[in-house]
Amino acid sequence: MLEIIQKAEEQHTLTFNEIVELLKSDSCLPEIMSAADRTRKKYVGDGVHLRALIEFSNFCKNNCCYCGLRRDNHNIERYRLDEETIITLARHAAIDLGFKTIVLQSGEDLWFTQERMCSIISQIKKLDVALTLSIGEKSAEDYKAYKEAGCDRFLLRIETTDKKLYERHDPQMSWRARYQCLKDIRKAGIEVGSGCLVGLPGQSIESLARDILFFKTINADMIGIGPLIPHPDTPLKNAQGGTFTMAVRVMAITRLLLPDINIPATTAMETLESDGQIKALQAGANVIMPNVTLAQYRKNYELYPNKSQTNAVNTSGLEPIRKRLESINRFIAEGKGYHQKQRS
Ligand code: SAH
Ligand code: SF4
Repeated sequence: MLEIIQKAEEQHTLTFNEIVELLKSDSCLPEIMSAADRTRKKYVGDGVHLRALIEFSNFCKNNCCYCGLRRDNHNIERYRLDEETIITLARHAAIDLGFKTIVLQSGEDLWFTQERMCSIISQIKKLDVALTLSIGEKSAEDYKAYKEAGCDRFLLRIETTDKKLYERHDPQMSWRARYQCLKDIRKAGIEVGSGCLVGLPGQSIESLARDILFFKTINADMIGIGPLIPHPDTPLKNAQGGTFTMAVRVMAITRLLLPDINIPATTAMETLESDGQIKALQAGANVIMPNVTLAQYRKNYELYPNKSQTNAVNTSGLEPIRKRLESINRFIAEGKGYHQKQRS
């Protein structure tokens, strides 16, 4: 085990069997986390990039079995922020709070046509920030238009590379179509963010190992890994869900193999474990995405239950986050935090 970890840290490559061995074992988690932490420090430094997350609509045409926003969930109140409110929130995040990246996330809401999205993007870009979208599967032409309007990055998790599992948990969706979207995002000249869920019912260790290799194959600029947290109003309400430990293991190995990418300490990790994000930041992560959505809407953007509010930004601004980072000798990074490629 220790030899495999050393190889990963030195060469940033592992075979499928080696990844499976690291994932299967119950031991060596502290060693894997420390190796990932050293790799993070060496390639992307101690600065932590903050991305302001605006959850602007919880309408979704899809029915993903794990997600509280799925269209068949009639127990949530649906909301959609108007253009002006979105811009006001973005302005507050950029000008008052000093965020350098704005992330707009939503369900797949058809009300936001290409034209409406492009208008929002170009107005936000006037604030001198990087802009990330996380709004689901779109056409190649849409991605191109977003890029032309100023979109810099796009987050679209593949969720799992096991096609059968994907299609079971994401009914009426196609794995191939999702993969094609990732290619179209890249082709449009937008940074590609992807990632997976850890703990889907039926997911094997081998499949998680394939997910990690997939992230390398697509040359991802950012990878977000989150444990599945069962939502009571979804078909997966009785599922066991993912564990913090396995999610961190997958994340740390991802850092070892893709040393210079951006990796967020996900909110789902914080939800499962107190100080989960701090632990993730010490196991390979270098990004956090504080929520700047208005409190009145946050409760209805429930991808999973009891979503941690540790990083929700309120009247005290970024001070609590700054203090938390200082406690582990880290700091809020300057700059927009693009993926700086250091390895060909
Ligand atoms: N609709 C867009 C973006 C919003 S969903 C999309 O699907 O890409 C963002 C992410 O939330 C999804 O990619 C999924 O990985 C995660 N998510 C959804 N339900 C979850 C749950 N129950 N537990 C943990 N993560 C979940
Ligand atoms: Fe919609 Fe995204 Fe939730 Fe799937 S994961 S139901 S696409 S919001």
